[in-house]
Amino acid sequence: GVVTRFAPSPTGFLHIGGARTALFNWLYARHARGTFLLRIEDTDRARSTPEATEKIFEGLRWLGLDWDREATSQFAGMERHAEVAREMMERGAAYRCYATQQEIETFRETARAEGRPPLFRSPWRDADPATWPDAPYVVRLRAPREGETVIEDVVQGTVTFRNETLDDLILLRSDGTPTYMLAVVVDDHDMGVTHVLRGDDHLTNAARQTLIYQGMGWPVPIWGHIPLIHGEDGAKLSKRHGALGVEAYRDMGYLPEAMRNYLARLGWSHGNDEFFTTEQAIEWFDLGHLGKAPARFDFKKLENLSGQHIRACPDERLLAELEAYLAARGEPGFGAERRDQMLRAMPHLKERSKTLPEVLDMAGFLLGQRPFVPDAAARKVLDNALAGMLEDLLSRLQQVDWHPADIETTVRTFAGERNLGLGKVAQPLRAALTGRTVSPGVFEMMEILGRDECLARLGDCVE
Ligand code: GLU
Repeated sequence: GVVTRFAPSPTGFLHIGGARTALFNWLYARHARGTFLLRIEDTDRARSTPEATEKIFEGLRWLGLDWDREATSQFAGMERHAEVAREMMERGAAYRCYATQQEIETFRETARAEGRPPLFRSPWRDADPATWPDAPYVVRLRAPREGETVIEDVVQGTVTFRNETLDDLILLRSDGTPTYMLAVVVDDHDMGVTHVLRGDDHLTNAARQTLIYQGMGWPVPIWGHIPLIHGEDGAKLSKRHGALGVEAYRDMGYLPEAMRNYLARLGWSHGNDEFFTTEQAIEWFDLGHLGKAPARFDFKKLENLSGQHIRACPDERLLAELEAYLAARGEPGFGAERRDQMLRAMPHLKERSKTLPEVLDMAGFLLGQRPFVPDAAARKVLDNALAGMLEDLLSRLQQVDWHPADIETTVRTFAGERNLGLGKVAQPLRAALTGRTVSPGVFEMMEILGRDECLARLGDCVE
């Protein structure tokens, strides 16, 4: 069966490009009912940290990308990597190189001076083992110097590398630790990885890794090198463009399913579909529709999709997401009574909201405390309302049985009697009840707030 993997280096946060790579591998594994594995590539000891590993776990969990197997430390497999390097030497596919840093530098400088490519050609490549000194050495790949290495890539098509442009890369360092290039091949092989989907910054590595596979006589996985995400202006993605950690998107109040939907569309397409559920993405995901042109990160599109996912989210779950969002900011949840009001209000809160904080903002009429201090826009509406109008409306509303139809009829009748358009009454009423000019529909809101609260708020305002 299909085995895909996400193999991040734990050197920073799970950024948006990494999250997309993880998503594509996850989607493909789920689509093919295969296995998705997570491997933390911590062979760069100086730059790898446990905090970064934790951040990667956290980001993937939030995104809902569950993995079937995990290798939390590639470094722990060092012995196995060294064993493969030895085997490659026995097979003649690798050799000990005793060249010093100084010799390598000198070789490169001379090559440059003579107008040749500064690829190091080791004098130890064909040395007789009898001449091996008792000195530190690295193990290098004996890469072919003639011919071509061809990558068959599901995204890039056939990509050909002239072997003379590839060097005898290092497999084992002089301290016996494996390089990324060796470790990734050994692990992908040992873990049965069938498909490698990753950023196209690894395309040349694919050629070099192919030589390692060939050196061991192992089958090469299916490659898919996805163009890196660009900014809205077409430039390479930077912080300003949205190259943030996934937790930044959680903190901005996007739902994980909206992120999955949006990231899936960054480099993959299914006809003209923009909005889809994760179940649909799993059903539809294929390697044939990975885009060859770099996708551009577009906040507008993300927001738009996010709004659609908020509306599609069941009320109960959305409430839980709001409470999780608040908890992450160290703010309290709603409590039983508020929770009930929030659920009743949810269809109205969802209507125009694009993110969780926007839902909370719409819920300001429920979550705020009396007395409501009007904001500038609400102040203006109140100042422009007819003098005494709210007092009269208050005494009229005091007579009403608190059913939505009755409330509406009362306000409409009241406006009619004064020859005012409904807005001329409803807007000041909203401003008085909420201190703001934006809220769900005024009648629905009044019903949810209840009689006592509405009359008290109006009372605060006309005093
Ligand atoms: N660890 C590598 C990285 O973070 C990825 C290796 C791979 O996907 O082959 O760039």
